[in-house]
Amino acid sequence: MRLRFAPSPTGQLHVGNARTALFNWLLAHGKDGTFILRIEDTDAERSTRQSETTILEDLRWLGLDWDEGPDVEGPHGPYRQSERLHLYASYANELIAGDHAYYCFCSPQQLDAERRALLAAGKPPRYGGTCRNLSRDETARRMEAGERPVIRFRVPEGVDVAFDDLVRGDVTFSSEVIGDPVIVRSDGRPAYNFAVVVDDALMEITHVIRGEDHISNTPRQLLMYQALGFTPPSFAHLSLVMGPDHTPLSKRHGATSVAEFRDRGYLPEALVNYLALIGWSPGGDEELLPVDELARRFNVEDVSHSAGVFDPEKLAWMNRHYMKAAAPGRLAAETARYFLRHGFIQQRTPEGMDYLASLLTMAVGSVDRLEEIPDRVRFVFDYDASAALARPEIDGVLHEPGACEVVAALADEINGPLLDRESFRAMANRVKERTGQKGKGLFHPIRAALTGESGGPELDLAVPAIDRGAGLPASARVARITSCSERAVTFAKAVHGE
Ligand code: GLU
Repeated sequence: MRLRFAPSPTGQLHVGNARTALFNWLLAHGKDGTFILRIEDTDAERSTRQSETTILEDLRWLGLDWDEGPDVEGPHGPYRQSERLHLYASYANELIAGDHAYYCFCSPQQLDAERRALLAAGKPPRYGGTCRNLSRDETARRMEAGERPVIRFRVPEGVDVAFDDLVRGDVTFSSEVIGDPVIVRSDGRPAYNFAVVVDDALMEITHVIRGEDHISNTPRQLLMYQALGFTPPSFAHLSLVMGPDHTPLSKRHGATSVAEFRDRGYLPEALVNYLALIGWSPGGDEELLPVDELARRFNVEDVSHSAGVFDPEKLAWMNRHYMKAAAPGRLAAETARYFLRHGFIQQRTPEGMDYLASLLTMAVGSVDRLEEIPDRVRFVFDYDASAALARPEIDGVLHEPGACEVVAALADEINGPLLDRESFRAMANRVKERTGQKGKGLFHPIRAALTGESGGPELDLAVPAIDRGAGLPASARVARITSCSERAVTFAKAVHGE
């Protein structure tokens, strides 16, 4: 089995296209096939190397590695269409020689007028065939006179083109609705429908899995396979990914590109697992499955032909699962960019990263995305007693009976770093004995004083995290963290108006 993903490098990788890439990859991996990446960059105006680079990066980030492609090469290269122009030229000549294609001199203005006339008459626009039967002499004369023709494929008249789509079943088009498509533009560049046939044939692709927006191209391509004497691959056209309002997923719905999902802090394994389940089910009750297991179970025939709806809630649920499952070191590495952005770390150092890793258990259970993690542990880095006191919830805590005594006792009883749960508990016990406060009456004022907040992670975790951070050397390049003893003293002073 040989499968390919053939992106046009004209922008970011859309999640719908990433899903197409994934389904090809799953089939190749589950069936011991080969996965090929081909860059379709013949549209010189819209294609950029920058876009190609980001598409490759996004695919790698998703873990969708390829066996043959522009950077790894392979026996059927080159894998960038702009480097294969000689091949298209040679097959175009072959089609002309066999009278399966012809030169067309119609100007854009002529074609436009023709198109408008057909539309006005309520007919579908298609090429009217003006140059279909130009004689060889006439063609040669006009070319010598400097006209630059396109090459059109001659669609046979009155035939039905049928194929058995692996997702949609029998599909039939009448050749009557297909105008002769341009296969080579006047500047010599091949058109998509032609280049894709030459490439899929020469690259020995056995299965083409692509978006249903290409389904009406397939009969044109099948006719070209026939004319060139190539055996066509099997085709599967995937329904598009829709937004919650059942229109194709677009900017209006929020994030649409893989890069945006990465920036917002989704893990690649969550996005991959989620995309695999749009329009396909691995069977059984289990939806959270590693990619190898998805590949083992994947069959393109099981993909639904009805449109799949992108469900951000479900993606968030999967992301929460994968964040909890990820090793702390990896999660810290993935999250560091957000801590940098907040100024909570100045640089990635081994010591700083270990420290971040130690903070993550306080956050991962309660966020949907990595991007939200720094905010959950903001109390560690940002501490301002007066600002905290100005907040109504903190003021409320301090108005509870006995709260101010707890705050005062706290400042006295913290006499060194509280580096673990035990030392925090022992200290809290001393405050309890001194003030007679317990439960909420004890812990609410302690939380307010040490974190500046009225809620948040367990104090058993939060307090040692603060003091571990306060003890870091400057070389760890973590923003300066105020220790619990300093916090208790400043807070007590602020409460007592000093
Ligand atoms: N370059 C085409 C696209 O991005 C590929 C279509 C195909 O897979 O044949 O839509």
